[in-house]
Amino acid sequence: MAETSSRELFTIADPIIGIDLGTTNSLVAWCDERGPRILTGPNNQSHCPSVVHIDPAPPAPNRHMEVGQPARDRAVERATHTISSVKRLMGKGLADVAPQLAYLPYAVTSQNPDGSGQAAIKVGDKTYTPQEVSAAILRELRDWAQPYFQHPVRKAVITVPAYFDDAQRQATRDAGRLAGLEVVRIVNEPTAAALAYGLDRSDDATIAVYDLGGGTFDISILRIEQGLFRVLSTNGDTRLGGDDFDQAILRLVQSEIAAQLNVTQIDFPPSTLQALRHFAERVKVELSEKPSATIEIDLGQGRNYRRSITRDEFLALIRPLIAATLDRCKQALQDADITPAQIDKVVMVGGSTYMPFVREQVGSFFDTQPYTALNPMEVVALGAAVQGAILAKINRGILLQDIVPLSLGIETMGGAVAKLITKGRSIPCAADEIFSTSAEGQTAVKIHVLQGERELVEHCRSLGQFTLSGIPPMAAGLPKLRVRFLVDTSGILSVTATEERSGTKAALQIVPSYGLTKDEVDQMVRQSVLNARTDMLAHRLIDLRNQINQDTAAIEKSLKIVGTDIDPAYLTQLQSLMATVRQLAPTEDADAIHTALTAMDHASARLGELAITKTLQDL
Ligand code: ADP
Ligand code: MG
Repeated sequence: MAETSSRELFTIADPIIGIDLGTTNSLVAWCDERGPRILTGPNNQSHCPSVVHIDPAPPAPNRHMEVGQPARDRAVERATHTISSVKRLMGKGLADVAPQLAYLPYAVTSQNPDGSGQAAIKVGDKTYTPQEVSAAILRELRDWAQPYFQHPVRKAVITVPAYFDDAQRQATRDAGRLAGLEVVRIVNEPTAAALAYGLDRSDDATIAVYDLGGGTFDISILRIEQGLFRVLSTNGDTRLGGDDFDQAILRLVQSEIAAQLNVTQIDFPPSTLQALRHFAERVKVELSEKPSATIEIDLGQGRNYRRSITRDEFLALIRPLIAATLDRCKQALQDADITPAQIDKVVMVGGSTYMPFVREQVGSFFDTQPYTALNPMEVVALGAAVQGAILAKINRGILLQDIVPLSLGIETMGGAVAKLITKGRSIPCAADEIFSTSAEGQTAVKIHVLQGERELVEHCRSLGQFTLSGIPPMAAGLPKLRVRFLVDTSGILSVTATEERSGTKAALQIVPSYGLTKDEVDQMVRQSVLNARTDMLAHRLIDLRNQINQDTAAIEKSLKIVGTDIDPAYLTQLQSLMATVRQLAPTEDADAIHTALTAMDHASARLGELAITKTLQDL
């Protein structure tokens, strides 16, 4: 049978979707009792490049405007017909956008067909309003969303930057209307980001939203009181973002290629430049994950440019740009008349905040661990969807009644769960536990974070995992891995793993309340009660089997050390005890295993002493 893509179908009447209409990328999301999620496009893509290609003489009707990735792919070849960054023109007069024009490859005119005198776009002999172009993007996103719903999608919440004025907000509303959407609310992007984290439901707080996207940087200081947001100040730079980091790499590559070719400067054709820019972006993204990345470019005629760029080299290029964003933060704080210490929470937004350096810098500037649990490229759309759910009176997420609704823990050896924070604890709360490695010389440990009341991994809900690597090789059981769980006042879980001997660290942040309905939570609790006895036995068996592995390995090791210096009768006794234990291990008879294990452990005490004596003799 052919595989058909099966998709959840939401049956709600008149759904309200959330749209992040971005300068670089746009996204659509939806929120129900399970919390917000991104709705993906036909190729499962989560974001739609905010690019529209216009064909003024279309070969067929409806081929007039092409939106998203196909349009972006044409940006080089058909520069004057491909509209990007249209958000920069929304609701603006020509004079307002004059400084932008140098960056836009298409023609901008004041001959707006709506007669408003606002800036419009000229393609061939036709003129388009920025609203029309934005409407094409909104229509595309509505089309992405529609297959998720049984009923027509007609309503949307759309986000705009906090500094957008009335004209810009109105232009955004008009774009929605042109796309056939009723814009039920225009929400500030930083407010949406805070909503995505559910900060409207936590205590009164002052929040900084640091948004570093592709072409823009925004810092907003918000105050939330009794669920209502107020913008205290905004600052930023409309010409600072990830594109500049790409440019920095591009400039480095260009100058090195020039040097290699022994010329002072090379003029690459635009298509080559565009390719190099893509390339530079890939290197940048790779450096968010790895300490170095390799660049290799074929220069033709058998020549090749190849070098590896380290994170440190890259940082040297962009450090001043990040410092500039922090200066803006200072300014915003001053305008709001507060100090960094008065900021309770920092929310990270925008693809460029994936960069570990940015997270570190922002974290130390505000002296708090910034929120990164939600994908920074998606968080604004998620928040728009949350606003939609609030307006539709959907009871989103598990209601946080100031307590942890389900236990939180990690996977341990053999598929059992060690609970660090148990259900019902009041928030904020924290827990610490020391673990170790199970293999000799193990240098990496996977930390799998789970939620639920059951004893086995397979019956709990996986919240995510990460790897603590860079542990210096040590004997099994020697590393001290401290795993720390922290649930803050907003219910956000931070998991940190530290190897205490070496200080290596790794961390993960999660919003544990997303993905489950209240009914599912209740169901999970009921299941744990129903299965309490079997679960306890299963967990006990796993622990016993782990103990068997550990103890028999220790005995084997001691036997090797002692060698022939052992009384043959004692050796036979130990071997038979080990055989018994190993034979019982796969059975379900926990008591029998326990008895055999205890017998073996008692008998092997003398062997342990022999091994120590032997080791000391051999010194
Ligand atoms: P905008 O709000 O301007 O639409 P986005 O939030 O979509 O922008 O961010 C896009 C920017 O994020 C691009 O410059 C892209 O290269 C950058 N980016 C995406 N992923 C990463 C990553 N893993 N590391 C560094 N930069 C990234
Ligand atoms: Mg953005």
